[in-house]
Amino acid sequence: MALLFYPEAVGEERRIRDRVRSLAAQHLRPFALEDDALCRFRREAFEAFASEGLASVVTPKTYGGLGLPYACYYMAMSEIARASMSMAVTVGVNNLPQGALLAYANEDQKKKYIPPLCNGKAIGAFSLSEPGSGSDAASLRTKAEAKAGGYVLNGTKCWCSTAGHADLYLVMARTAEHKTGGISAFIVDKDTPGLRFGKQESKLGLAASPLGELIFEDCFIPTSQRIGGEGQGLGVALSQLDAGRIVIAAVGIGLAEETLNRLWANFSALTPEATDKNQFAEFYARLQALKSLLHVAADAKDRNTPTTTLAAQLKLLSSDLAMEVTTHAVSALGPRGVLVQNEMERLFRDAKALQIVEGTNQIQKLVLVREMDKAFKP
Ligand SMILES: Cc1cc2nc3c(=O)[nH]c(=O)nc-3n(C[C@H](O)[C@H](O)[C@H](O)COP(=O)(O)OP(=O)(O)OC[C@H]3O[C@@H](n4cnc5c(N)ncnc54)[C@H](O)[C@@H]3O)c2cc1C
Repeated sequence: MALLFYPEAVGEERRIRDRVRSLAAQHLRPFALEDDALCRFRREAFEAFASEGLASVVTPKTYGGLGLPYACYYMAMSEIARASMSMAVTVGVNNLPQGALLAYANEDQKKKYIPPLCNGKAIGAFSLSEPGSGSDAASLRTKAEAKAGGYVLNGTKCWCSTAGHADLYLVMARTAEHKTGGISAFIVDKDTPGLRFGKQESKLGLAASPLGELIFEDCFIPTSQRIGGEGQGLGVALSQLDAGRIVIAAVGIGLAEETLNRLWANFSALTPEATDKNQFAEFYARLQALKSLLHVAADAKDRNTPTTTLAAQLKLLSSDLAMEVTTHAVSALGPRGVLVQNEMERLFRDAKALQIVEGTNQIQKLVLVREMDKAFKP
């Protein structure tokens, strides 16, 4: 038994949903508690999804992806998140370099780097943030100095998901002083001399999704690994932010759905007087509305129309819903809500990061205000 949403998944979307559910039941759910407790990243679980194309659902078949519509991708991400938010982050982040390469790389680069990111032979990561530049990404300082045949990178990147475990990193670094036009993007192999991995963060949630530093010390990267033109790096990074925001919305929706389902399945265990069921009814209605909006975004992505506004709206509302639903669920369960073995506290901890990643929710509001202003400019 599970909560119903409309429209029901059909065709490929249903097939992907069922396959992800089955893989999640085998490779994620039985380990979720222990992975969280041990902060354990299991590469073999990622490979189980990647080997069936589920880490590259929309990437064209020519490069090894499934070439399916975005609704299938978002369905896969929601379902992975229901079983393990940490794995959803790994799979979502693995799609960012794929998207950037598809949009900006030359044909040789696409053929070399995209297939391994699709079939699980390599895991991809995205490294934009630095200790002094998060929301204001354009103020990054990691330097890429032009030298014969390439660039020498120096500097420290931080908060990179899957750092140390990923094989290919899309790294944004400064090639010139100009704030926005002085950034370039590079694809960097894990084993490149001059790249090492710094401290791994211990954090509130997403315990099974490693988060760490990349330290570049005179790290030579050949020009053939620059993605896009010199100075196009911020565009390369931002091209993936709208896409990434919709993915965060999809996983937030998955987390909210999982929480409501778990709570309802165990509702008899709740203290009736202490439980405001009407609050959960409102969450159910908001979840349905967001699922519908996610389909609108999927359709826009398939038609290649701009999604900046939709992406900000979805990311803001879905991550806030995930946080609210999990907060109320923990409260509704009373002391059982905070017991690790009941797993509700993990869903609650995992929800928080969704309000921060891919641009904080305050930044989503800034984006929306800017779009509203634009609409009324003469
Ligand atoms: C779990 C996790 C995974 C991550 N993975 C990655 C990754 O793989 N790759 C990567 O590059 N980065 C990653 N990040 C970093 C993430 O993208 C940044 O944390 C985020 O962009 C915010 O930047 P910041 O941390 O520097 O916060 P800050 O920019 O310092 O913001 C601090 C606070 O100030 C607010 N604020 C900042 N500017 C404004 C403004 N102009 N108006 C109003 N409020 C403002 C923010 O909303 C926030 O509340 C990850 C972060 C987390 C938590």
